Amino acid sequence: MMRPPASTEAASGATQRDGFASALLAWHDHHGRRNLPWQHPRSAYRVWVSEVMLQQTQVRTVVPYFERFMAALPTLASLAAAREDQVLALWSGLGYYSRARNLHCAARLCMARHAGALPRDAAALASLPGIGRSTAAAILALAHGQRQAILDGNVRRVLARWHGVEGWPGTAAIERQLWHLAESHTPTTRVADYTQAIMDLGATVCTRAHPRCASCPLAAGCQALRKDRVATLPTPRPRRSVPLRATTLLMLRDTAGRVLLERRPPVGVWARLWSLPETPQRLSDDTALAAYLRDHCGVTPGPTTRLPGFTHAFTHFRLQVAPIRCDDVRPLEHIAEHPVRRWCTPADWTAAALPAPVRRLLESLEEPPMSRTVFCVKLGHEAEGLAYAPWPGELGKRIYASVSRQAWQQWLAHQTMLINEHRLNPLDAATRSFIATEMENYFFGEGSVKPPGYTPE
Ligand code: SF4
Repeated sequence: MMRPPASTEAASGATQRDGFASALLAWHDHHGRRNLPWQHPRSAYRVWVSEVMLQQTQVRTVVPYFERFMAALPTLASLAAAREDQVLALWSGLGYYSRARNLHCAARLCMARHAGALPRDAAALASLPGIGRSTAAAILALAHGQRQAILDGNVRRVLARWHGVEGWPGTAAIERQLWHLAESHTPTTRVADYTQAIMDLGATVCTRAHPRCASCPLAAGCQALRKDRVATLPTPRPRRSVPLRATTLLMLRDTAGRVLLERRPPVGVWARLWSLPETPQRLSDDTALAAYLRDHCGVTPGPTTRLPGFTHAFTHFRLQVAPIRCDDVRPLEHIAEHPVRRWCTPADWTAAALPAPVRRLLESLEEPPMSRTVFCVKLGHEAEGLAYAPWPGELGKRIYASVSRQAWQQWLAHQTMLINEHRLNPLDAATRSFIATEMENYFFGEGSVKPPGYTPE
């Protein structure tokens, strides 16, 4: 029978004898998650990538990203050899891109300093970029069965509630106390199962908003439950005022349906990702906007729409975004070779590493202003057509004339798979040529259904 600790101080000396670990392991045997993709096989590399992806992100979101990442970069050596653009593109949509950059950098350090493998020493592992004490412990416990205590967000919550720990876990003193508790509960056997179990319990039972105490294997000894403090523990971070910044994002689309993207600087928000041209200026009237576009973006504007603004939250500030959409802009200068700017088709930007709000804005561009119907060569029946030609030249016109929105979305998913599989840079000329050939085959190849009256060019 699990005994509740008499106090937090007493609990800090808890050992496996308190039944905490055995209750968790028994629960894990029936309810633990055993079919997560990084568990088969559970190599150090796969556990590492999954742990980094799972920071700030839920399992169901991570699974498809993890599978895509592993299909493209199955080993630490392949990750080290990859271009940063490819790693960021595989990460695109997961957010917190410094995680991807650190992963890439750590893989290269492992190749240079650790004979191409993740070190098995906790201190050496924790010193790699993006791998803190808890992530290092999780890798060693899950992949090698080493007795290492973890303290991620889920574990913090379980321990703070079970022991009734008062105080925000972000302070050094409370964090020290929680580490001590985590170490005291970690068993000497079945460490990998225990580690998975406590993570799973925090993610599925002792959740932040709706803990399921009635189904919890630790309920008998839980201080928070006993004292009716479940809703108030762990103690939340003290309120602080978060600064608000403002920016204007420019969605400049030319007559071929391409949008102008530019690469962000190497430091700061969204570092090195592709994004929309941005200005802190309000540009509230069309004259100011036209002057700005001419002087800073090298284009003359066409029809302009000021879209509804939104706020995006970062860790240390909130960004108030005012998007402006300009269609049919005309470049004043040739910027195809500009080092940080590119005109991108939907195929280009779909596969590129973009911040999530920018991707959402670009996706909104694809929504057609009015519905039109085409005979879709891929689906073999009439369906809603695209709003504009999604690729330059004759191929773009053919797609516009005879490919439905549904089939185009299917192609975009296929294209992402191709780019990952062949480790391509979506923005270079060779990739565009390869993609054009694949696209033509995909829609107009041997197996496609020809529309009525179709004659090959
Ligand atoms: S009893 Fe409730 S609060 Fe306590 S550990 Fe279980 S789920 Fe969390």
